[in-house]
Amino acid sequence: ISSAASDVYKRQDKLIQPKGFFMKISSNFDSGNIKVIEATDPLNIQLEINKDHQSEFYQWFHFRLETTPYQLHKLNINELDKSAYPDGWEGYQAVASYDRQTWFRVPSSYENGTLSFEIEPECGSVYFAYFAPYSYDRHLDLLSWAQSQGACQLITLGETLDGRDMSVLKIGEPSEDKKTIWITARQHPGETMAQWYVEGLLHKLLDDEDPHAAALLSKAVFYVVPNMNPDGSARGHLRTNAKGVNLNREWQTPSMENSPEVYLVLNKMREAGLDMHLDIHGDEAIPYNFVAGSEGIPSYDERLKGLEDSFKAALLTITPEFQDEHGYPKDEPGQANLTVGSSATAEEFKALTYTIEMPFKDNNDLPDPDYGWSDRRSYQFGQDTLAAIVNVVDDLR
Ligand code: ZN
Repeated sequence: ISSAASDVYKRQDKLIQPKGFFMKISSNFDSGNIKVIEATDPLNIQLEINKDHQSEFYQWFHFRLETTPYQLHKLNINELDKSAYPDGWEGYQAVASYDRQTWFRVPSSYENGTLSFEIEPECGSVYFAYFAPYSYDRHLDLLSWAQSQGACQLITLGETLDGRDMSVLKIGEPSEDKKTIWITARQHPGETMAQWYVEGLLHKLLDDEDPHAAALLSKAVFYVVPNMNPDGSARGHLRTNAKGVNLNREWQTPSMENSPEVYLVLNKMREAGLDMHLDIHGDEAIPYNFVAGSEGIPSYDERLKGLEDSFKAALLTITPEFQDEHGYPKDEPGQANLTVGSSATAEEFKALTYTIEMPFKDNNDLPDPDYGWSDRRSYQFGQDTLAAIVNVVDDLR
């Protein structure tokens, strides 16, 4: 028996699949990310996550399993103790979809750096992801739909390092007495809930029968950046752009060379003005919706505190998805990191700004074992946040 034939024999000996069994894992699509270590035995699929290009961060995964349905599959994603947020895996359930429309949770467990989950697929093709993906095509659809609505104009600010457009939607007509409100999302591209949130917010803001939208647009102009990091999004990154740069640490010294995304948006903010800024994110570890304010910036004062308190009180009244108990520790006075987007804009424009964080896991105040925190709940939270702005818009300047 030749050595090659012997290898085949040994391999076949290990196979437990029925004849004709076929299994393939792929990720060569928009925001795909997985490294296949071993995938011949459905009961022993071993995977890892690729790092963001030129960076040490990794946490976002998104791949497709093509296989024989109604058979047990055991998937393991390894090396997660060295991922960007190891605390993100404890209590986390993977997200899956057959039709790429409905993303449901798959019971998962985390031990010794490995996330494990089992599934008997109901179809021959099933997708898995860290959170419901938001594709670059959907992003383009959103921009095109929005600019077709009367009150909205699509503005291209420039290009990213990979040559994608940096786009901002301007909604409403500016005038001297109107406030200028900025919404930016997805500086961290793996935080796809941020763009689901913006989709919900835009659908409400551009609904000409919506009373909150009507009230707001009579008093404010909105600039909305639905995706601050289109390159990282398409590349399947968690946290950085095409060059491995974390955009939410670039707001003191953005450059066309390293962070054109921030450079272009910040310039537009200086040109258009800024009276309020919400920067939308997802948090890997904390299973709640929460906000991080600007209490640590040098210019923080009673006025900004009053605006923060009014906004939070309104949001607490509007939706039980929001709470103000769990979140990041508050910055000490003067100790804010001014390279972070919402701190930088708060300081420069003396404005109400918040980083809004949604969970990758679930909202533990309203847990949903089937879907966890989801694309649809993020969408609704975007709409509810917009309604809360009505309560502060008169006092923003
Ligand atoms: Zn983030």
